[in-house]
Amino acid sequence: MALSGIQIYKMLPQTNCKECGFPTCLAFAMKLAAKQVELSLCPTVSEEAKAQLSEAAAPPVRPITLKSNGYEVLSGNEVVMFRHEKKFFSPTGLFLRVYDNQPVEALRQAVQAVADYTVDYVGIDLRWDGIAVQANGGDFAAAVTAVRAITHLPLILIAPPDVLKTVLGNPQITQITQMEEKSAKSADQKILLAFADAENWQAMAELAKTHQAALAVQAGTLDEMVTLTEKIKAAGVDDIVITPAQRGLHGTLLANSTTRRMALKQTFRALGYPILNVAGDAATPEMETMLAAQAIGKYGGFVILDHFAPETAYPLLVLRQNIYTDPQKPIQVQPGLYEINNPGPEDPVLVTTNFSITYFSVANEVESAGLLAWLLVTESEGMSVLTAWAAGKFDAERIAKDVKRFEVGNKVSRKRLVLPGHTAVLSGEVEEELPGWEIKVGPREAVDVPKFMKQVLV
Ligand code: SF4
Repeated sequence: MALSGIQIYKMLPQTNCKECGFPTCLAFAMKLAAKQVELSLCPTVSEEAKAQLSEAAAPPVRPITLKSNGYEVLSGNEVVMFRHEKKFFSPTGLFLRVYDNQPVEALRQAVQAVADYTVDYVGIDLRWDGIAVQANGGDFAAAVTAVRAITHLPLILIAPPDVLKTVLGNPQITQITQMEEKSAKSADQKILLAFADAENWQAMAELAKTHQAALAVQAGTLDEMVTLTEKIKAAGVDDIVITPAQRGLHGTLLANSTTRRMALKQTFRALGYPILNVAGDAATPEMETMLAAQAIGKYGGFVILDHFAPETAYPLLVLRQNIYTDPQKPIQVQPGLYEINNPGPEDPVLVTTNFSITYFSVANEVESAGLLAWLLVTESEGMSVLTAWAAGKFDAERIAKDVKRFEVGNKVSRKRLVLPGHTAVLSGEVEEELPGWEIKVGPREAVDVPKFMKQVLV
């Protein structure tokens, strides 16, 4: 049961010492009740109060981290229904599922493709997060071994308890010890076991406890889910993952939304766990991708897919990146002077803002054209050129300030500064701010920059 701010306040030291960063204990209590701060910020709270408050202070969606050999995928810990209210914190973990009865070469190729895949998106490396291995009448241990021989990305193991037991009991299969020493980063790992249901939950809970694993619970309805998670929690398993049995778009949306709403709005602990969606159960690869996209947008903590192809892997990753970016903070690059293709003192200085997509658009066009330039990225709070100009974050004074701050004049002998075409109106003011510099107005679109450099900057 959630405690009110007043109830929490009564358990705090009530000294108003401000060490938590809040002016009064009451202000801190209110924030604690709203799950916006951690109790650990108060250094003087008594052990007794800590014990009493731990339930109230616990995040509404329990954070669970699957990990292996230094790879980690965190789910849960979310505090809002809609990202514009604050932000979503734990990007959906994407797992490729392989089966123990598929030809071993096909299994290896599929796993290798995921292990090798990484893509640069505006300076951020994106990749899938792990492998799910499902028993399907084949040699489960051999399948897990084959996966482990290729990658130590985090694992989801899907099998009945008796099959899981044989694999989990063999450290050579599931643990990091078989890694070559040079590539082993950490022996710390947490696997997700699936699925506990009304029939097998006791055996599955025992396995999860014995092997410190997380446990995915599956039930036909949310009522049955609540009954199961409460039993499993009482049996001593804390790291629980909810897997709605619904697989279609409508059912998944309803189950995921209800689960998140109950966890956040009612602090209903029995549903306060990350959600696993099995998009791979869809009838077609296209529907699988749609279900995965839906899960990324609507509360899926982990998603299992049966197909991996760059043409669908990439858009899912970009979607995830955008959903899990703080909407109040555009993706930014560090302001500074960047070199494109190792420029010299005669090469021009292009100016842009520190909105990542703007930066990478200009840099990629110039770099791929094989041209040499300096790129001055100004501090504009992550806004694009036009937005920053309209908001007064990209003006002559700021540009001149950054030219001096990053000592651009020391890098070039031929002082040519190229402004984005959309801000041609600034050229006169920049000339006044930077005497001795030749101010040029470039094109409006990044794609036209190479042509402009070849024709105008000669
Ligand atoms: S640190 Fe603790 S005692 Fe001090 S003001 Fe904050 S809540 Fe009160």
